[in-house]
Amino acid sequence: MPGKPDVLIVGAGLAGLALAHDVQRRGQSVHVLDKSRGVSGRAATRRTPPPAAQCSEARLDHGARYFTARHPRAVALAEGGVRAGWNRVWTPGFATWDGGEVTPPPQDGHPRYAPPAGMNTLGRELARGLDVQTGLEVSSLERLPGGWRVHSRDGVAGEAARLALNLPAPQALALLESLLLDGADDLEEVKAAAEKMRRVDYAPCWAAGAVLETDIGADWPALSLKGHGVLDWIAREHTKRAEGHPPALMLQASAAWSRANLERRPEEVLPELLAAAADVLGEEIRSAHAFAQRWRYATPERRAPGPCFWDVGTGLGLCGDGFTPDDHGPRVEAALLSGWALAARMGGND
Ligand SMILES: Cc1cc2nc3c(=O)[nH]c(=O)nc-3n(C[C@H](O)[C@H](O)[C@H](O)COP(=O)(O)OP(=O)(O)OC[C@H]3O[C@@H](n4cnc5c(N)ncnc54)[C@H](O)[C@@H]3O)c2cc1C
Repeated sequence: MPGKPDVLIVGAGLAGLALAHDVQRRGQSVHVLDKSRGVSGRAATRRTPPPAAQCSEARLDHGARYFTARHPRAVALAEGGVRAGWNRVWTPGFATWDGGEVTPPPQDGHPRYAPPAGMNTLGRELARGLDVQTGLEVSSLERLPGGWRVHSRDGVAGEAARLALNLPAPQALALLESLLLDGADDLEEVKAAAEKMRRVDYAPCWAAGAVLETDIGADWPALSLKGHGVLDWIAREHTKRAEGHPPALMLQASAAWSRANLERRPEEVLPELLAAAADVLGEEIRSAHAFAQRWRYATPERRAPGPCFWDVGTGLGLCGDGFTPDDHGPRVEAALLSGWALAARMGGND
């Protein structure tokens, strides 16, 4: 455990990293903890070995597929990334499938950004210069006089005067409820935070990736499906990548199908998703490597009002895509805006 930072953040998703970046820029010390092996949370990329000697490894975005930017600060991040070379505009729109009819992508839509090395580039870029510890799952919180202590199963994982949670709402709620059971002194504030998190519901998502022996016979970057019984998304992932990347598909099941099949095993779900894609595409999918990934909390269907939660008395904050920082839907940009909003509130700027 490092020395005591000013702010401790649990969760190195995009909201937590956006928050950490601004806190550090203000001159305060910050330490970020995450249970995963890397940063970036649901803006995730999986690397698979090259399918053939002449190919590079494959990178598949099995969480967020791309991102958009409307707020000037998000636009500056996205366009700054394009200039720096880590980001690029993937496409202005997607082909659509509706009852078997395919409509080609529009050429004049707003930019959909997708970093060529994968969506987790966003998290890696935000984490530059930050003190982030991965592979550490926080299991409980403890209120100290004037501060916070967080625990993992192995013992004390960190202490700070201020604590921010950047977790999908049910996971944040579980930590807050453990504190309520312990009878924390500032129960009213903690209850208010828990109440915010209780209002948030997520849709699950089964996703499947396949590195192909040969590309499919389509010319769109991705197909957005309406009213299909299984799938709502098929992307040709290699259209995001540099030349030499093997052909690869990412599939996403609809929320309804994902919910109905939530407790099944990946090896059961994978052939069904690949078969559904083959049926839509009207051709066999010959994969060199394939996987399925379940997201229990993929995207919020109901969010807490406001951009974030902050209680100055206890020094407790919450941020993430479970909040509503603008009038648009839950997405990468909303997570960033929530993290930046919490930093502003912590700094007393808002
Ligand atoms: C399948 C899928 C497709 C999507 N498609 C898009 C899209 O195309 N465009 C778009 O804009 N958005 C998309 N999204 C949504 C987008 O990914 C999220 O809105 C955004 O990444 C949320 O960021 P966050 O920081 O709020 O949370 P998260 O990314 O969930 O970050 C939370 C972090 O907390 C960590 N954590 C959890 N519990 C603990 C614990 N106990 N201790 C320590 N660490 C913990 C997790 O490992 C994670 O890194 C998609 C999401 C999914 C799952």
